[in-house]
Amino acid sequence: MPTIGGRRPGFGLRVRKDGNKALAAADADCPCGQFSKAASGDVDVEALVIRYGRHRRDECPIPEIRAAAARQYAALQQSLSKRRK
Ligand SMILES: [Zn+2]
Repeated sequence: MPTIGGRRPGFGLRVRKDGNKALAAADADCPCGQFSKAASGDVDVEALVIRYGRHRRDECPIPEIRAAAARQYAALQQSLSKRRK
């Protein structure tokens, strides 16, 4: 089964989608232990990815997690605005 986005097994976000007809599935675990969820189906998986990103950036009690998420968001925003021009 292909796994995307899980370079470090254990904590983190994992999203699976096998072929176009398969249901997407995802689970996310934060090292703080306050965020551990799973979802299936395109809509729910997308919502989980967004909620996990928001938790890491805004809600997580671990400062290192929030700092890393803030850097990722900044990089993402930069690449998005570059693409739009
Ligand atoms: Zn957390």
